[in-house]
Amino acid sequence: MSDSSNQSWLARSQAAVWHPCTQMQHHAHTGSPAHLPLIPISHGKGAWLYDFDGKRYLDGISSWWTNLFGHANPRINAALREQLETLEHVMLAGFTHQPVVELSERLSALTAGTLGHAFYASDGASATEIALKMSFHFWRNSGRPQKCEFLCLAGSYHGETVGALAVTDVALFKDAYAPLVRAAHVVPSPDFRQAEAGETPADASLNCARRAAGALEQHLEQHGEKIAALIVEPLVQGAAGMAMYDPEYLRLARALCDRYEVHLICDEIAVGCGRTGTFFAHEQAVNDGTPIRPDLMCLSKGISGGYLPLSVVLCSDAIYAAFLDDSVARAFLHSHSYTGNPLACRAALATLDIFAEDDIVAVNRQKAAKISTALAPLAEHPQVKHLRQRGMIAAFDVDTDDPYFSRKFYRAALDREALIRPIGNTVYLMPPYIVSDQEIDHLAQAIEHALHAAL
Ligand SMILES: *Cc1c(COP(=O)(O)O)cnc(C)c1O
Repeated sequence: MSDSSNQSWLARSQAAVWHPCTQMQHHAHTGSPAHLPLIPISHGKGAWLYDFDGKRYLDGISSWWTNLFGHANPRINAALREQLETLEHVMLAGFTHQPVVELSERLSALTAGTLGHAFYASDGASATEIALKMSFHFWRNSGRPQKCEFLCLAGSYHGETVGALAVTDVALFKDAYAPLVRAAHVVPSPDFRQAEAGETPADASLNCARRAAGALEQHLEQHGEKIAALIVEPLVQGAAGMAMYDPEYLRLARALCDRYEVHLICDEIAVGCGRTGTFFAHEQAVNDGTPIRPDLMCLSKGISGGYLPLSVVLCSDAIYAAFLDDSVARAFLHSHSYTGNPLACRAALATLDIFAEDDIVAVNRQKAAKISTALAPLAEHPQVKHLRQRGMIAAFDVDTDDPYFSRKFYRAALDREALIRPIGNTVYLMPPYIVSDQEIDHLAQAIEHALHAAL
């Protein structure tokens, strides 16, 4: 521990830590266009991360979409310190505690009581698997065991465990493990970029939603009897490259799921918690003046403010009631050791407190407008396509054949003190909500520089 320079930490990390989502050889290949720098972080403060050599990076992607109110947030820190002195953990089977009860009540209230039961895990992929298992088991308990297949959207991402890969449609993550996976049915995405020739931009988004809903209807007409649930990422398909779509799709999908007796699972792991302009993304799909509601909803990532691993599946009374019986086999016997961890729940409560006290959904509308203004000049760039935004997610596609574009861009942005990690040729911003106007300008300038350097 004597040497605390970047160099020593990255060498030790490369030797001992197997990093996620990474070809480890690319960390070692300095000087090659494939090189991916490994950056040892010593500490974080607000929207900034600091390395051991005193260099800083503005966290433009909220540390993989988790951080909402900055690193080392004083209010979340204080809540966690207090919780640490009270109760760090207790098993949730047969026991309960204040943070898990309060969090469950508050999440239910945020869905206007429509999703009144909360089941906990520690990561997003597990939440996906819980939702799939709950849906399947609901139908089995209801005397309809033939409803045992799932539907997902083209380009969907719901996590990478073997069960979650079944409803993940990203070839890079899925193909290698295809023999292990019981793949779901894939229906077309409502992504607005699939506009047809002659459609005005204003019509395109609605038409894409309607065409995709038409395909869903056809699929349900043929296979509805076997389908337990449709799982979607509401409004923005994150890992597909911030594919955005019109809320009309969710409204139509909700009606079709009702008609064909199929559960609608909203995976709000990335888009929930104020990210898209409403607290939950699905609330932007409105029917007769009220938001549509899913039967099951997955939350993770931002729910703990980006502090601790926590995920939760919320379900309707109807689903919950189908498991109540004298028989243990009819119960939902899923478990994780750290289910409902008090520290993680307390971080989530502190996060919800900040939403309420600071009126974050309204604040985010102003920040989103600022991001929009700061990025607007990019629309003039000849290689920038489909500049788009939904609340606190902004993205554009870069027209290039260079297979190393994303790495070149990433490295160039780091040189300008910005953490911006493109997905393929899609560059996006998804900053923490505490980002200031000056920091938004800093990110926009880093993008401009990185585009220049990478193209
Ligand atoms: C990140 C993500 C997941 C998986 O969450 P992990 O905690 O990484 O397992 C699932 N669904 C969506 C939409 C995500 O963005």
